[in-house]
Amino acid sequence: MVYGFDVDGVLANFIDAYTDLFVKMTGKDLFPERPFEPPCWNYPQHFGYGEDVCNYNTGAVWKHIKSSDDFWERLAPYDWTSPLMTEVRRLSYKGHDVYFVTDRTGINAKRQTERWLGRFFTDPTVIISADKGLVAKALKMHAYVDDRPENIEQVVQHAPNTAAYLFSRGYNRQREVFGSIRVEPDETGRLMATDPSSGISWYPLAEKSV
Ligand SMILES: [Mg+2]
Repeated sequence: MVYGFDVDGVLANFIDAYTDLFVKMTGKDLFPERPFEPPCWNYPQHFGYGEDVCNYNTGAVWKHIKSSDDFWERLAPYDWTSPLMTEVRRLSYKGHDVYFVTDRTGINAKRQTERWLGRFFTDPTVIISADKGLVAKALKMHAYVDDRPENIEQVVQHAPNTAAYLFSRGYNRQREVFGSIRVEPDETGRLMATDPSSGISWYPLAEKSV
């Protein structure tokens, strides 16, 4: 079977480093007391930062990220990253194919991501792409996990044979994507459906189909 994982928001704590960068670049801290859960995807705008800092193409923060050769490599893992990656390694040992798909940008973004993932997974295959649905389709993925509802929508649309898992986070909690399953990791690193009545969890799904 073929598995795909998004990186930021699922495995790597982009949010904390991104938040710190706004404070560092502007000298202003408009965010709530740490730790906080971003209430929406564009949370810096929500808390009052302007386009001059936030804009992906012209803003100061993204300019910094794109010109840094170690921003991605220095991100912290989440508490669940290590146990979750233990489960992902297990999939690989059993002969399944694992891909990490990310829309990261900047200097050596692919290389930085490979090095970062290398702490948990030997020789990870990293694909840099914003078109997660087309990647899932092209690689005939059986399952794909991502925290961005738009990406999961694309997977549902372009790759109907891929089980699409929306990784549950505060900033995507208001959004349900038809045809996908909302999941979160349990303490052992297994991805479980947030709605227990669905009777679905990641690991048994994999086991069942072997
Ligand atoms: Mg993500």
